[in-house]
Amino acid sequence: SPLIKMINVWKIYEMGDTEFAALAGINLEINEGEFLVVLGPSGSGKSTLMNLIGCLDLPSKGTIYLNSKDISKLAESELARIRGQMIGFIFQSFNLIPTLNAEENVTLPMEFQEADMQKGRKRADYLLEVVGLSDKKQNLPSQLSGGQMQRVAIARSLSVNPPIILADEPTGNLDSKTGNYILNFLDGLHKKEGKTIIIVTHDLEIVKLATRVVYLKDGKIEKIETCTKEKPCE
Ligand code: ADP
Ligand code: ADP
Repeated sequence: SPLIKMINVWKIYEMGDTEFAALAGINLEINEGEFLVVLGPSGSGKSTLMNLIGCLDLPSKGTIYLNSKDISKLAESELARIRGQMIGFIFQSFNLIPTLNAEENVTLPMEFQEADMQKGRKRADYLLEVVGLSDKKQNLPSQLSGGQMQRVAIARSLSVNPPIILADEPTGNLDSKTGNYILNFLDGLHKKEGKTIIIVTHDLEIVKLATRVVYLKDGKIEKIETCTKEKPCE
């Protein structure tokens, strides 16, 4: 069965006495190990879709299964628990905690999981090494460049080893060297570690890695393209 299954999912925002459907009847199945790119114009519902998949928000109508479990009506505490176990976020705004150094930012999600923190710090050091920041462990976010902050955010998103990685324009504001680095890193997570990756991006280099591309328009799926090695999506 699919890792994620959305059945007739709606997200309706109420503003005063008007309603707006940011998502209007989404049906989508995502299998384990997919590299799914979400495309669509501004306002088409991409962030809303990511928030639902990431267990950050609940649908107004419809059903979402994650690992065959219905997550569409869960209480926030339960949703947060599943989010912590299943989802790694690579969002553009980094969301690093400004008062914590790089290492502490990476260990934080493990503390939420009440993991063994001696092991936790070892894993944080390993991850910071993987992203090439061993010498910046003690730096606060304000003492890092944009690309370095993004790499700390990546290390943090992997700290609890989640099976699903959600990324929102991960290469958006970065120089091409850091962008390439992140591209290769995501590719490795997908191909070597079998992670399921779901990305909102317009970066054509990332689209080339996709197994499928979902096009959103006005809160609906306009089309889904399947990509192959012989004929990558573009
Ligand atoms: P995208 O990520 O594709 O730009 P979003 O998912 O952010 O699109 O937004 C989809 C639509 O829903 C937009 O028209 C946006 O204005 C609206 N929207 C998003 N969040 C809210 C909210 N909290 N309240 C009201 N409308 C919202
Ligand atoms: P990049 O070329 O990656 O954008 P920057 O030019 O922003 O890097 O920074 C160069 C180096 O200086 C980086 O290694 C960064 O960690 C360090 N650095 C930047 N700002 C500060 C700061 N406020 N305090 C300490 N180190 C800093």
